[in-house]
Amino acid sequence: MAMNLVRNVWPTNLIKSSSAIINTSVNRFFSDIQSTSKICFELNDEQTSMIEMVEKFTREEIIPNANKYDKSGEFPWDIVKKAHKLGLMTHGIPVEYGGLGQSLLTHCIVGEKLAYGCTGISSAVGNNILPQAPIILFGNDEQKKEYLGRCVAEPIVCAYAVTEPGAGSDVAAIQTQSVKNADGDWVINGQKMWITNSGHANWFFVLTRSNPDPKAKASEAFTGFIVDADTPGLTVGRKEWNMGQRCSDTRGVTFENVVVPKKNLVGAEGKGFLLAMKAFDLTRPPVACAAVGLAQRALDEATQYSLQRSSFGKPIARHQAIQFMLSDMIMGINTSRLAYMRAAYEFDQGRPNTYLASIAKCLAGDVANQCATDAVQIFGGAGFNSEYPVEKLMRDAKIFQIYEGTAQIQRMIIAREHFRQAMG
Ligand SMILES: Cc1cc2nc3c(=O)[nH]c(=O)nc-3n(C[C@H](O)[C@H](O)[C@H](O)COP(=O)(O)OP(=O)(O)OC[C@H]3O[C@@H](n4cnc5c(N)ncnc54)[C@H](O)[C@@H]3O)c2cc1C
Repeated sequence: MAMNLVRNVWPTNLIKSSSAIINTSVNRFFSDIQSTSKICFELNDEQTSMIEMVEKFTREEIIPNANKYDKSGEFPWDIVKKAHKLGLMTHGIPVEYGGLGQSLLTHCIVGEKLAYGCTGISSAVGNNILPQAPIILFGNDEQKKEYLGRCVAEPIVCAYAVTEPGAGSDVAAIQTQSVKNADGDWVINGQKMWITNSGHANWFFVLTRSNPDPKAKASEAFTGFIVDADTPGLTVGRKEWNMGQRCSDTRGVTFENVVVPKKNLVGAEGKGFLLAMKAFDLTRPPVACAAVGLAQRALDEATQYSLQRSSFGKPIARHQAIQFMLSDMIMGINTSRLAYMRAAYEFDQGRPNTYLASIAKCLAGDVANQCATDAVQIFGGAGFNSEYPVEKLMRDAKIFQIYEGTAQIQRMIIAREHFRQAMG
């Protein structure tokens, strides 16, 4: 029946030629398609071997320790050190500064695999990309050598300090001030809040208001600096006990007459707002990939459980209501994975990706939350209990809709970019 259908609609020569190609050289056929269409869903050799290595690392180092670190909230230094040794903390740093110089796409594919094990631990391993991003994009050669170089030489962590107690989404409302002194150096005063890695950071990227005139444009009023963590006047607060991702370290940071040498000004004076925001083009795809890793874990756990747990005389996997929840999870995971890959790919091509990075971050954050919630539902009462794996996933997922721009802010960016395009 199927053969007849094919014979009726396909020209005979096409059937012959396509079967000959498939029999003789499938790979050449696909590579021909790739070279003409320029869309390729195959991983390259480097990505394939990285994935094998990271899956092993996640299986052996992260998954067995995830609950321990979730309960203690302790920073997972032993895992961070091992990850650093394997190049998992330096793969995004350019080769000329000692890193592996891998593409953002590879960085994200690897990040998804780490996050599958535990997003608290993967945040501790991967969050350096956030403070590194303004330096990679706008730092000068000396700054890159010194501060990216430190990250290559030792398993250190660094922090991106923008949010304040009074301003998160509204970045232009931050109050931390920088004032130039008689030597041309800068003096910083103010307070930051929710700063990841801050309790263990070796250095900070800090956004400050350098123009006190409230009427000054955001694009001219802020300046970014690199600040060594041991600079006098910089103090970190207590570790915050968060809902999820508990071994990731977040604290308040206070700056009291912190003197920063002029050589540590990043980019140009007054241009800090732009560089703090442009950093997100590089870092939102990695946040999205971590959310996808969590969502995939929720799906896998829920699938296994649904096959083992029975009700009304059959495995719950055979109830259509359960299958539909799993199907929704699968659709969300596959589309958000494509979204982060596309956003990372555009960045790697040197093309604007703000719109795609926000789509990926927003979609993946929402999907991770829906998947974790549905996984808890599929586990029933056991899903609500901390002895089972999905309760932690639900707690860990929430932050993906908050940090690096909330779900509402991502939608605002998507709409802004959409109308910018629509109006030419
Ligand atoms: C665990 C954790 C780690 C973090 N790590 C870092 C870090 O390393 N560095 C850093 O600088 N910051 C960090 N943050 C801060 C984070 O980026 C902010 O919390 C986030 O941007 C939201 O800001 P906010 O908390 O001030 O909320 P608000 O800005 O006060 O927002 C409150 C609510 O109002 C909504 N909202 C605000 N404005 C609008 C609007 N115009 N339209 C519609 N809705 C709006 C928001 O979406 C949100 O739902 C972290 C936060 C957490 C919790």
